[in-house]
Amino acid sequence: MKVLKFGGTSVGTPDRIKHVAGLIRRESRNVVVLSAMSGTTNSLVEISEYLYKGNIPGAQETLNLLEAKYIRVVRELLSTEATRAEAMAAIERTFALIRYFFNDNFNVDGEKEILAQGELMSTALMLAYLREQGVKAVIVPALDYMRTLESGEPDMNYIGATLRRLIDLEPEAELFITQGYICRNAHGGVDNLKRGGSDYTASIIGAVLGCEEIQIWTDIDGMHNNDPRFVEGTRPVSSLHFEEAAELAYFGAKILHPSCVLPAKLHNIPVRLLNTLQPEAPGTLIYNMAPDGSLKAVAAKDNITAIKVKSGRMLLAYGFLHKVFETFENHRTSIDMIATSEVGVTLTIDDDSRLAAIVDDLKRFGTVTVDRDMVIICVVGDLEWHNTGFEARAIGALADIPVRMISYGGSNYNISMLVRKEDKIKALRSLSEHLFN
Ligand code: ASP
Ligand code: MG
Repeated sequence: MKVLKFGGTSVGTPDRIKHVAGLIRRESRNVVVLSAMSGTTNSLVEISEYLYKGNIPGAQETLNLLEAKYIRVVRELLSTEATRAEAMAAIERTFALIRYFFNDNFNVDGEKEILAQGELMSTALMLAYLREQGVKAVIVPALDYMRTLESGEPDMNYIGATLRRLIDLEPEAELFITQGYICRNAHGGVDNLKRGGSDYTASIIGAVLGCEEIQIWTDIDGMHNNDPRFVEGTRPVSSLHFEEAAELAYFGAKILHPSCVLPAKLHNIPVRLLNTLQPEAPGTLIYNMAPDGSLKAVAAKDNITAIKVKSGRMLLAYGFLHKVFETFENHRTSIDMIATSEVGVTLTIDDDSRLAAIVDDLKRFGTVTVDRDMVIICVVGDLEWHNTGFEARAIGALADIPVRMISYGGSNYNISMLVRKEDKIKALRSLSEHLFN
């Protein structure tokens, strides 16, 4: 059994839905995870924002546009009268449910219900189309098995046992269709796995069912070795270690959600990134691969702020770093990179919403300097420290660029360098030149 996940653009139009239907029916008894059609979750978020602000006409306007779109989709997607009428009724029920929350007592529970509707509509539409095509598909509702614990983590035992039972109840089914992103929380309320959470759904399902493979289908042919928006001639990477994929996902390669990596890695289920527009292309395979002595890819993370704390008192003292880290913890701000010397430490953050307060607190421990508009350039590959020459090549590629800090040795898989925003593209291009050409 495999899990196949299709993102919002892959199911973004009636034609794309038909195309995906063709791909998923090639093999039997797989689990297919669908996102909301592209733009839908954003619209639902916007509707919730209007409702929080008490602007019901604003919510109404956005919802009407969304409803008109789904009505068009039903008409274009389905061809028999009966399925069309059925799908139309389902869409009408969904929009009536959303309108039910259009009142002055709108709260977070209403918001969660509204946000869940996008995925529910995609799966309903796909099911209707598959049935029209004569495929025996069934929906396994995510809200019946996907559950989180009080901590917010997925309840893997419950999910596994329940999902398996739901699947076993359908011995005749050729395909199982389910919603990405949505779940129930520990109290049974409708909830979600955060934006982009459909990849996470697929990974959790692959893990609990011990699937042969988790396939993440998008619009590009795998994880590229550099950012194709800025660098010409990038190529898909054929295989990556889970740790390498996690670094790349975190540091900007948009193709895979970072949370997706963990369940698959822990349960040793390979993840394959595939392209709906080029289904036969090999894509990228992510698994617990053995080190292969190569550099794989480069990614960049924008909007980074570097904070340097320099202190005479750090010399030979202990507890200094603890106080610095504690300051970030107190402000619930996570740190990306660190470099230390005997007299100072520089850290980077990407969320600068608490910057002024953090700097204010840090001034108790030393002199604080802030550099904004920085970019982390992350080189990923087999960077185990006994290998020689790799870090030299990465740093050498930036010989003509001012580098604010370097972090190497934190894992076996990456080296990160901090540069100014205006040097980012030059840095990415030079790295491709030096490492991959
Ligand atoms: N529909 C959700 C979102 O747009 C989940 C996903 O697509 O992964 O964030
Ligand atoms: Mg997505």
